[in-house]
Amino acid sequence: MIAIDLRTVVLMSSVMPGMMSAVLYFMRRGFPSNIRGLGYWAAGSLVISVAAVLLALRGTVPDGVSIVFANACVLTGVGLWLIGSDQFVARKPSWALVVGAVILGTACLAWLLWVRPSYTGRLIWMSAILAVLYGVAGGRLLRHGGRNTAFLGAMFLIQATSAAVRCVTSFVSSLASTGYFVSDLIQTLYFGVSELMTLMVTVGFVMAATSRLRLQLEQQSATDHLTGLLNRRAFANVHGIEHQRIKQLGDTLALLIIDLDHFKDINDRHGHGMGDRVLVDFSERIASRLAAPGYFARLGGEEFAVLLPGADATAAYVQADRIRRLVEQRANAALPPYTCSIGIACLPGFDATLERLSHVADAALYRAKSGGRNRIEPPDPRVPADSVNPPREPI
Ligand code: GH3
Ligand code: MG
Ligand code: MG
Repeated sequence: MIAIDLRTVVLMSSVMPGMMSAVLYFMRRGFPSNIRGLGYWAAGSLVISVAAVLLALRGTVPDGVSIVFANACVLTGVGLWLIGSDQFVARKPSWALVVGAVILGTACLAWLLWVRPSYTGRLIWMSAILAVLYGVAGGRLLRHGGRNTAFLGAMFLIQATSAAVRCVTSFVSSLASTGYFVSDLIQTLYFGVSELMTLMVTVGFVMAATSRLRLQLEQQSATDHLTGLLNRRAFANVHGIEHQRIKQLGDTLALLIIDLDHFKDINDRHGHGMGDRVLVDFSERIASRLAAPGYFARLGGEEFAVLLPGADATAAYVQADRIRRLVEQRANAALPPYTCSIGIACLPGFDATLERLSHVADAALYRAKSGGRNRIEPPDPRVPADSVNPPREPI
């Protein structure tokens, strides 16, 4: 069997977390502050790196440093990784567990070094506590982090399993390790897995953070910043997907274009801030009432759109009327009363490009505005809209 120098393996395992600590630190500075946990992951990696150097110095520096302090550093580093993971998945930080693990672990190591010296005892305690810390971190990431943290969570669980195996085998005399740097099967396997996994865990931090950032940027680029609705670009994407589906089903696709009436007057009379609040109020009220599977977007300014896949002209009409009536009812006394006009388009799937739907709905909206506002207009100007529009007041 090839003799592996475990001291070198341990020393080498300090390199990667040390470098990744710097990478994570710079990522923390550059990433949006709502991606949390990077600071703790960076600090944990640095502490683990220092711990690996101290562990490798066993026999050349006092045992208090290379055994008790070094292992306290290992526990602290892994504990910081756990706190960072808690923060990353927006859970309550496990401070009680981490502080308890570090204090208990350090006390046990000191006792089993100076009072009742036992290498196996120290190994059992350290492995057991590490298995718990890694296990909790892995479980949390897998349960609460979604796809972003699946890889990292799995790496933590492998670490937990490896520590648990090391702990359990210490009770089996034929497998138990006889010395820290003795290249027996379990020690070699444990250090091998540990070094590889430390590398994978730190790579996992970077992967989790960048994947979260990408998701956030995708979401931001698809939403309108004021109302949180889909923006024009995202709406076009949604239309593209629905259009393909509806075409295959041989169904119809309906579009409502909604424009707030005399919105400029609201801005002029009450200020731009109040205008913004009206836009948010409108968006929230409609979004909460919109029947699935409708898509609601802000096209720009005070113009909105609703895409209704599978809706025929009558269903689109009913939906539009519901929206018009809802807006007309003043729900918030702190806001000025406002109304909207709606143009409807409804086309068979093969013909329902966004361009054609918009063209028809815009023309209908134009008629709704010139017909007196607070109205809905069907796609076909020959169809009378009076049944669903409020009676006009005599001039
Ligand atoms: P109409 O009934 O014909 O639709 O008249 P209108 O006043 O609603 O339409 P117009 O196009 O004349 O004015 C739209 C106004 O919307 C002008 C613009 O300053 C305002 N506006 C556009 N975007 C925003 C915004 O994000 N916030 C606020 N407060 N106002 C906006
Ligand atoms: Mg308007
Ligand atoms: Mg407008």
